[in-house]
Amino acid sequence: MLIGYRGRIAPTISGQLHLGHAATFLATQKRADKLGGILVYREEDLDRQRFKEEFRESIRRDLSWLGVQWTEGPLTGGTFGPYRQSERGSVYKTQMSRLANLGLVYPTEHSRKDIESSAEARSTEGEWIFPDSLRNPVSANFNPRLNWRFVVPKERVSFLDEICGKTEREGQVDFGDFLVWRKDGIPSYEFAVVVDDALMKVSEVVRGADLLTSTARQLLLYNALGWEPPKFAHCPLVLGDDGTRLSKTKGSLGLSFLREKGMLPEDVFELAKSRLSAPFPTAFV
Ligand code: GLU
Repeated sequence: MLIGYRGRIAPTISGQLHLGHAATFLATQKRADKLGGILVYREEDLDRQRFKEEFRESIRRDLSWLGVQWTEGPLTGGTFGPYRQSERGSVYKTQMSRLANLGLVYPTEHSRKDIESSAEARSTEGEWIFPDSLRNPVSANFNPRLNWRFVVPKERVSFLDEICGKTEREGQVDFGDFLVWRKDGIPSYEFAVVVDDALMKVSEVVRGADLLTSTARQLLLYNALGWEPPKFAHCPLVLGDDGTRLSKTKGSLGLSFLREKGMLPEDVFELAKSRLSAPFPTAFV
């Protein structure tokens, strides 16, 4: 079957949307429209600590106010969604067993504290590189009640980003062995997103530039699982009043707040564009 352009809107269901989300999701919509493609909708609701049912609705309300639309309906062997990651446990388990069989993951009992206090601990971009001395042997025996890490090779991962251009990260320098599965029985963000984007036949991922290093990790997973990766386009970030990126506490740049203040949806993208860390290329706006 010929698959045309297929993007996705994949909000994390852990808070209200803000101007940064609006910029990325509107760029995603514009890109799909320009290329005559469709968007899949996926609720990333695996983090049960930050999840609240009420966020599902408020996010959908904000997206429909902005004019972001996705397609629902049949796709070969499944549907276009909307999907909820929390309902896809068996899909993730199947793929985790496959990864374990490939000899690329190991179970680990070490906590973040062990990592931080290890003599070799190093951190980069605020993340700890998992120390060699704490690595366990790989195991083909996947047990979903344990934490599992992916063995990151000491090699360069490069990709041509549709917005940022040639991008490179070095395994074991910029990022180390990363978590793919948690002992509470849920996959990590990196693993779930790769499984979903591959099985949902996403042809291009549009998301924030804060995820560039994640993309390098994810490319290792695509390669390991024998899947063709999608294209990637990492959008410039919207900056808050203090010039730093917006956090979940969005205050006056929250979409509900802007709507209640009387802002029109068509003005939201202009406001976002006035606060970007870098300009958007014309192919996206
Ligand atoms: N769910 C993430 C977010 O809302 C996006 C993840 C992704 O695009 O891969 O920021």
